[in-house]
Amino acid sequence: MTRTPFRTFRRCALASLIATSLMLPQALADSNDDDKAEKGYTELVAELKAQQGLFNFYRDMKTGATHLSLDESQLNTPFIYHAQTMDGVVEAGHFRGNFRQTRLIEFRRHFNKIEVVSWNPRFVFDPNNPLSRAAQANRSEALLAVLDIEADDNGRILVKADPLFKSQALHRITPWANPNQTGPRFSLGNLNSDRSRIARERLYERNMDVVVDYVFTNDEPVVMGSPAITDPRTITISLQHSFIAMPDNGYQPRRDDPRVGYFTQQFDQMTNPEWTPWGDVINRWNLVKKDPSAALSEPVEPIVWWIENTTPHEWRDTIRQGVEDWNIAFEAAGFKNAIVVKEQPDDADWDAGDVNYNVLRWTSSPRPPFGGYGPSLANPKTGEIISSNIMLEFVFLSNRWTLGELFSGSAALKEAGQGEELQMHCSFGHKVQMGHLMARLASDERMYDNIAEDPILSQALRHLIMHEVGHTLGLNHNMRSHGLWGNQQVHDASLTQGVLSGSVMDYNPVNIAPVGVTQGDFYSYKPGPYDIWAIEYGYSPALADAEAEEARLSAILSRSHQPELAFGNDADDMRAAGRHIDPRVMIGAMTSEPIAYAKDRWQRVNYEFTQLLEKGRMADQSHQRVFTSANMLFGQYAGQANVVSRFVGGVYVERDFVGQHDSVRPYTPVPRATQREAMQALNQFVFAPDTLQSMQPVLSYMQAQRRGFNHWGNNEDPQPHRMILTMQRNVLDHLLHPQVLQRMTDTALYGNEYSLTEMLADLTTGIFQGDLTSLSQNLQVEYVNRLIAIAGLEDDSDYDHLSQAAAVAQLRAIRSLSAPRRAAESSRNHYNYLHLLIDRAFAA
Ligand SMILES: [Zn+2]
Repeated sequence: MTRTPFRTFRRCALASLIATSLMLPQALADSNDDDKAEKGYTELVAELKAQQGLFNFYRDMKTGATHLSLDESQLNTPFIYHAQTMDGVVEAGHFRGNFRQTRLIEFRRHFNKIEVVSWNPRFVFDPNNPLSRAAQANRSEALLAVLDIEADDNGRILVKADPLFKSQALHRITPWANPNQTGPRFSLGNLNSDRSRIARERLYERNMDVVVDYVFTNDEPVVMGSPAITDPRTITISLQHSFIAMPDNGYQPRRDDPRVGYFTQQFDQMTNPEWTPWGDVINRWNLVKKDPSAALSEPVEPIVWWIENTTPHEWRDTIRQGVEDWNIAFEAAGFKNAIVVKEQPDDADWDAGDVNYNVLRWTSSPRPPFGGYGPSLANPKTGEIISSNIMLEFVFLSNRWTLGELFSGSAALKEAGQGEELQMHCSFGHKVQMGHLMARLASDERMYDNIAEDPILSQALRHLIMHEVGHTLGLNHNMRSHGLWGNQQVHDASLTQGVLSGSVMDYNPVNIAPVGVTQGDFYSYKPGPYDIWAIEYGYSPALADAEAEEARLSAILSRSHQPELAFGNDADDMRAAGRHIDPRVMIGAMTSEPIAYAKDRWQRVNYEFTQLLEKGRMADQSHQRVFTSANMLFGQYAGQANVVSRFVGGVYVERDFVGQHDSVRPYTPVPRATQREAMQALNQFVFAPDTLQSMQPVLSYMQAQRRGFNHWGNNEDPQPHRMILTMQRNVLDHLLHPQVLQRMTDTALYGNEYSLTEMLADLTTGIFQGDLTSLSQNLQVEYVNRLIAIAGLEDDSDYDHLSQAAAVAQLRAIRSLSAPRRAAESSRNHYNYLHLLIDRAFAA
């Protein structure tokens, strides 16, 4: 490391400044008393075990205490900091391979201290604009830690590292308080620095990883946690801190665009007067052609994936195939062999935490937090992806039922297969697991010893791998890509050839043929047209001339309106009731005719229920298989109910730019015919008095195998009324959501022809159709109570005025209904009860 005389001079000047300002008798006396302070740098480090790298790392081999030494040239310069959980407990929000935080960190000297400071590079000022002098206005940097300088010699500064690493200064490990959480919550207790230890470190020239075992102690735990926690009074979470030198490789960032779905780094151009003064860039790898003149060239450095040595041998070829198939997309961007797959040797001297390796990892967790997870670490200043891992859980390929969503019994579902999740956190594996069980049941395909011969497993695994690898290439979800094929085409394998969807980044359901149709592909296992286009946008080499390059990118983007390139991510999708507006952006949906597809699936589920006792009961075995399969079938049914409900009150959203094609209009209400089709489908399959009648013969066999006392406190009978009402409630949560009802009225001003009044009348008709059954009684009471709440007759209502009035009209219509002559006593009781509810509300 060379040092300029200028730097040395500055250091000397600073030292003399300190000397003159601190020439106080007391200060001198203190420093004379302290022998240690007089120990020089060389003397101090001589007793310590040294490792050299980005920083020099020293360890006292008697006490284990650690020290860091920085070069002065490393002060006031940002490093990329990254925190990753090496191992942890899911209860505390930690799991192996969890990428937690990436940010910039700088070391600054303040007299005899080193300040560890983090700052956000988001706000960009043109240095030539005088406003840049005010760049720090109203922003706060984070002073994470202040470290005493132990010694300082010849341009190197030695500090104690334990206070930095054995605290939560760099990264908060304890989960943040959740103000919405009610009831007792699992708590780690307090960090116990005495028991915590710096477990290991890796030093490289351009990066340093430090792994710390953080021990938390809690003398009075309230929530004990799962069996994965041996003793809730003391829990260890192992976390890796990585420092990475800012890359110096000429990487050229690529701008983001709303029409294509990459993860981004966002920059606000604070001195730019444009309408959208954003300098956002996409996250992507630095791929450079070896031969820039060739149409197709290998990259100078490929993206290398390592299959972790924990991976079952028999799956490795299939996994390799799933990763390498992304090269199909890269070839369209001009790169041959952009991605290379290698296997980690059993005796490798590196582990998957090492940020210099991209690793496909396998775990089989007691409580799997996901089925797959593909995070990446990108430079906050440029978006260049530096490292990434993929975590896969064995369980998603097994028959062990791990979804928190048990539908039967008293653990009735909250949201059928549509649980909330974080945007960055991919829970796709859970969906694949459910689909895999469905496929196995429906197709009668047996399990094969060799995965390559097993179309369900191999397609599911390749699909999952492609999806997770897609994340690590920078792609976010595309929940609108499933409209690639029509409802018949999608089952024709000679047509689909491994591409069921515009993108592998969707959450497609398993593709199951309707009853009587030959089974086609189960899953997409090749990149779709959107994937190829997105990779072309993100990775095709830039032209040197800025204007020509902008024209080139615009030309690629101008194709975004083509149906096969449709895009919408988690910020658009309608998985949660009432949230977002475009029903084409939805998880679990399939084909350009999702309502027709849902009907096929409902019929298929009904059929499978009729076959289940024969297929699922095995001689000399318990009824676990029937139990798991019945729950899965119910989940498939309920999931499609949510898909269909989203069309009612929906608005199609386009993000095309002006002039891109003839008919650019961002918002188009869903056509009346489609909304009514959705409502009729729900009335037929979800609200009908005989909904899921096919399940009834199975009910008395839906028994989980007893294990110890595991159904203690949870009554084990299947409780079908509760199951079905929960599914119906989830649909009503959407149809009657304040925002959906408000939107029915709003959209009438720009094209919606299915009015709020008509929709509620159709819903009432559906819920009050046919013969009264115990299921329809249950649903009708639910509906009437909701209408009373919407109308605001008894309590204040969150609904708009028109919705309140429309609800009152439906209540009046329902009040006029009564039990037919000679109806059963239960029917008369039911109508009397409804009348009572309505009369009481009107009188309130
Ligand atoms: Zn995902």
